Amino acid sequence: MEEKNKVKVIPLGGLEQIGMNITAIEYEDTIVVVDCGIAFPEDDMLGIDLVVPDVTYLTDNIEKVKGFVITHGHEDHIGALPYILPKLPVPVYATRLTIGLIENKFKEFEMPKKVKLKTVVYGQSVVLGKIRVEFIRTNHSIADAAALAIHTPAGVIVHTGDFKIDYTPVYGDTIDLARFAELGKKGVLALICDSTNVLRTGFTMSEKTVGKTFDSVFAEHSSRRIIVATFSSNVDRV
Ligand SMILES: [Zn+2]
Repeated sequence: MEEKNKVKVIPLGGLEQIGMNITAIEYEDTIVVVDCGIAFPEDDMLGIDLVVPDVTYLTDNIEKVKGFVITHGHEDHIGALPYILPKLPVPVYATRLTIGLIENKFKEFEMPKKVKLKTVVYGQSVVLGKIRVEFIRTNHSIADAAALAIHTPAGVIVHTGDFKIDYTPVYGDTIDLARFAELGKKGVLALICDSTNVLRTGFTMSEKTVGKTFDSVFAEHSSRRIIVATFSSNVDRV
């Protein structure tokens, strides 16, 4: 019966790759799934538009799966929901913009009627079986990004989602570092952390600098046509 008090962290995607972020947290009869993203195909995947995670573990344990909690609205965090929810029709919890983007997908795809989309605000917790998930404000290149404090009877797991520390975000407030500090003081069992570009030294600049850079590029080329592209639904930048 030793097994009883352990929490399992089961990555179903997102490790050693960019994209397809999805992690299951399991405690006894409860599974909560963090994010449900796609990956974009590699050069050798000819004819393939997008890559969807294998969720056999979740469908095999479907009675335990209590819901999805989504950190933010980028495709590599929400893009697989239309493919996975028909197999796993459980509620989806996220902040406002993230829910809005998921709702758009529901218009595009035929979705099971019983799937509920629930908007949460920063600081709010949702109780899913034996696990309580708290949404914490972070900064990212899209608004309404959240980190999650996943409270289980075995301890707290902090999942950062994608984040940066931006003291001058273009939209909304600064990341809630005070809440991270409080959680740290009380003790955290595990930190699941965004690692994109961690091997690069220095700081990530504020999103504010993107606009300034555009201003100078436009000023330098005022008599020529400029084509602007964006990556990965960087809504704040738009
Ligand atoms: Zn992201």
